Amino acid sequence: MIDSKWLPGCCSDGKCEYCGDDTTLKSGTGKSMEGDHIKSWSKGGETDDKNGASACRDCNREKSDKDLGKGAGQFNPSNPNARIKNRLR
Ligand SMILES: [Zn+2]
Repeated sequence: MIDSKWLPGCCSDGKCEYCGDDTTLKSGTGKSMEGDHIKSWSKGGETDDKNGASACRDCNREKSDKDLGKGAGQFNPSNPNARIKNRLR
């Protein structure tokens, strides 16, 4: 779920929190920074810092409304940093 008006960006140093790629140099590409709801907005996830992740466009598209996790139908980040790992349940 994407809300282009809401870009957390507070803790990621411009890196995608799902794949670790630097998004700051890639404006207008698949690596543009977008704000993602870790628990999908469509599933009741809040739009706040706790539920916000800075994601590149590619990861945001791939994650879509999936939950984070390693099971079937879940989104398993390719290079999760500690902040995201702590949120995996
Ligand atoms: Zn990414």
